[in-house]
Amino acid sequence: MNFDSFNLHPRVAAGIRQVGYVSPTPIQKQAIPVVMQGRDVMGLAQTGTGKTAAFGLPILHRLMDGPRGHVRALILAPTRELAEQINDAISDMGRQTGLRSVTIYGGVNINPQIQKLRAGAEIVVACPGRLLDHLGQGTIDLSRVEVAVLDEADRMFDMGFLPDIRRIVKQLPTKRQTLLFSATMPDDVRQLTREVLRDPVTVQIGHMAPVQTVSHALYPVPQHLKTALLLELLKSIHMESVLVFTRTKHRARRVAQQLSKAGYETTSLQGNLSQNRRRAAMEGFRNGSYQIMVATDIAARGIDVEQISHVINYDIPDTVDAYTHRIGRTGRAAKTGDAFTLITREDDEMVRAVEAKLKTRIERRILDGFDYNAPAPARDTEFARPLRPQAPRRQAPRAQTPFAGQGQGTPAQRANNPPDEARPPSPRYRPRRQQGR
Ligand code: AMP
Repeated sequence: MNFDSFNLHPRVAAGIRQVGYVSPTPIQKQAIPVVMQGRDVMGLAQTGTGKTAAFGLPILHRLMDGPRGHVRALILAPTRELAEQINDAISDMGRQTGLRSVTIYGGVNINPQIQKLRAGAEIVVACPGRLLDHLGQGTIDLSRVEVAVLDEADRMFDMGFLPDIRRIVKQLPTKRQTLLFSATMPDDVRQLTREVLRDPVTVQIGHMAPVQTVSHALYPVPQHLKTALLLELLKSIHMESVLVFTRTKHRARRVAQQLSKAGYETTSLQGNLSQNRRRAAMEGFRNGSYQIMVATDIAARGIDVEQISHVINYDIPDTVDAYTHRIGRTGRAAKTGDAFTLITREDDEMVRAVEAKLKTRIERRILDGFDYNAPAPARDTEFARPLRPQAPRRQAPRAQTPFAGQGQGTPAQRANNPPDEARPPSPRYRPRRQQGR
């Protein structure tokens, strides 16, 4: 099957050829025809499955007819990075259409966004907090929106955006098409689908698709030897880009520091970095100048780097969904990837839960030649003790430094700036060029 069978507008079809997609992914096969019929859709799909094109192509097709110069499609996304990625994808696919797309998110000056909106855009990709600011100031008009997309709905819930989403949806015309995408379907997302979708068609790609293209392995190791094992592991694999997850921002910084010291081009992603530094870290990882990124779950949301060859869980995540989300970042589309998880004895319960979800036993691996009996390093107490249990993920975020120009910010805006990520990394942790590369 190729894209011709959808009968997309010739200019949209030309855009697909330009980006080089040859055959549609499973979610695209299912979703594109129903979205083109104008139906509401509930899409159960993770990032990495091709869902952006699944909604982006029919939207471009639809907007080819009808008036230009006002907002006709609104896409809501949880993070700035995801908003930028969606915007990039839509701009690339829509290069031949003349349609204009604008991103709207906090943490950056609002004025350029206002200017772009004034100049006229048919598509807006927005994070909820800043969109509400624009609505409050009257700098955006959503009264002519024909299609609304809620992307990564479960993540938007996790980040406390539900009240904001409700307020935004209230400003949309009742006669509209609504598409909601979510990797998981917890009760609160299900409730929202009842509120915002009308007679939806559910499209679901094998829930585990990205998971299946990934090979999983567990590396049992004493807590204090995790960093040493990680370094050995990195030596033993052929890696392109490696995403390492830790549970806390402090551990992310420490691990990044240790990897840099060992000569790897490493960056770490902190939720509270200035927009520029965040963008530089993401861009550096995307273009390969950093080979390794160390991040926490919150900071890593929205990361989409094509060539992630390995996801390494330095710490196992605290929920099964977080595990699937993390490893959904490798094994994208038709590629395959490896997901390694370092586990200690305290992780038994979570390992069982992950295995139950994957419906398989994950291979335990012992790294040849690694000294599992080495004593704890004398001064590294942080890594020698078990992790403290995490606060529940859905807990309301604490107050946080507001974004520039946003007053105190809504709870959702504050969630965009999570307390766990409060401090930027020290300049001392700047990565150095790897020897001999
Ligand atoms: P997404 O789930 O939308 O983030 O897409 C994941 C990745 O798959 C992105 O890098 C897309 O460029 C890529 N992709 C999407 N659709 C296709 C397709 N039909 N063929 C090849 N790659 C695709």
